[in-house]
Amino acid sequence: VATADGLTRRFGERTVLDRLDLEIGRGEFIALLGRSGSGKSTLLRALAGLDSEAEGGLSVTGSVAVAFQEPRLVPWKRVHANITLGLAVPDPKEKADAALAEVGLTERAGAWPLTLSGGEAQRASLARALVREPDLLLLDEPFSALDALTRITIHQLVLQLWSVHRPAVLLVTHDVDEALLLADRVLVLDRGRIAHESDVPAPRPRHRDHPDLTSLRTTL
Ligand code: ATP
Ligand code: MG
Repeated sequence: VATADGLTRRFGERTVLDRLDLEIGRGEFIALLGRSGSGKSTLLRALAGLDSEAEGGLSVTGSVAVAFQEPRLVPWKRVHANITLGLAVPDPKEKADAALAEVGLTERAGAWPLTLSGGEAQRASLARALVREPDLLLLDEPFSALDALTRITIHQLVLQLWSVHRPAVLLVTHDVDEALLLADRVLVLDRGRIAHESDVPAPRPRHRDHPDLTSLRTTL
């Protein structure tokens, strides 16, 4: 769904992405690690089409949705209106209802974003990304501000949504365990390039299909 071929991004004298090559296949779940300042968010912005000054080859086929570290909901629109914002489909309301139900936020549909908890806001942000039915879902450290228990439920939610909708996912994270738990492939960004890449071997240390999950989810 996306190919970077010699992607380069300079900020003045600094070259943050340096002829970077990357291939993201349909339905892949990729985790992107790298030191703070290594250019992860810069790469995501380029993939999302939010950076007009990136140079080199970049092709993205299909639709892209992004969820940022801070959910970035529009504070003066209720949760439901945040989901439908800019959504160009014949039935935006129904689509938003379905997405909110999927992330378990039906009851908070009429709430103001500032009254949501961190985990709820994160789920709203996921619903907003999902409703766009992206072929490529870019997640920029979406879980780092959450407490450990909320993070587990959101991990499960992401895996569940991924297994149903099958977008390709590129997840930026600082958490190696999280990367190994969620992703099929782990990449490390260093000095402007993908410096390391490894497939997560099966059986993976993930609880993706674990039968206890359902009870865990309902308990939490
Ligand atoms: P973190 O893990 O801390 O989020 P990151 O890997 O996402 O870091 P980026 O945000 O991509 O890092 O930034 C990479 C480098 O590019 C940083 O040194 C940053 O200061 C620089 N940079 C990013 N955006 C700009 C900008 N608009 N103007 C100038 N420099 C920038
Ligand atoms: Mg970043």
